[in-house]
Amino acid sequence: MTFKDLGIIEPILKALEQEGYTQPTPIQEQAIPILLGGKDLLGCAQTGTGKTAAFAVPIIQHLYNDGQRNKGPRKIKSLVVTPTRELAIQIGESFTAYGKFTGIRNTVIFGGVKQGKQTQALRNGVDILIATPGRLLDLMNQGYISLRDVEYAVLDEADQMLDMGFIHDIRKIIAKLPPKRQSLFFSATMPKDIVALSRTILGDFEQISV
Ligand code: AMP
Repeated sequence: MTFKDLGIIEPILKALEQEGYTQPTPIQEQAIPILLGGKDLLGCAQTGTGKTAAFAVPIIQHLYNDGQRNKGPRKIKSLVVTPTRELAIQIGESFTAYGKFTGIRNTVIFGGVKQGKQTQALRNGVDILIATPGRLLDLMNQGYISLRDVEYAVLDEADQMLDMGFIHDIRKIIAKLPPKRQSLFFSATMPKDIVALSRTILGDFEQISV
């Protein structure tokens, strides 16, 4: 199985090749067809499995294909919420690497630093926003971020976010997402409260476990 067999388009194939990815990992092989097909996904997977590319590649491909048809100003079309600054930065770097030949732009926001550079990046226009929950809500409340155009929403490391006490923030964020969207939910473990949370974000979904 190759990325080409999975239906990945040329500009992304070229970037994956440059990353040295010769073959999809098991989670990528399972998730990519589901996500390119437009379905919601519940993924039970740890970091280190290739999870980031499993969601980032289909999102970039959707946005690239949509962008070919619709050339307007950039709006946040995809939101990725993740628990920590380190994960957010890593995910941002991955989107940048996989999307380098597509013109799809991302930015990363997280707490613990001044917000000026982050709000400036948002003003410049982004297609994909990667965020930690607290800073995301803060900038939403200040009017710097609207989620009204989000079409692809990812909750990453959901169990870790609950452990860190982000449940109320997460619920407020989910409440601001448009109902018509594709949702992706990843967690390393699936205790009851995580399954319950997943039901509040996912529509008709497929489940994978690696
Ligand atoms: P992740 O689980 O997304 O944090 O990825 C773990 C590591 O695997 C990262 O260093 C990725 O660059 C790498 N990786 C992801 N997908 C592939 C692939 N298909 N082939 C080789 N390495 C990969």
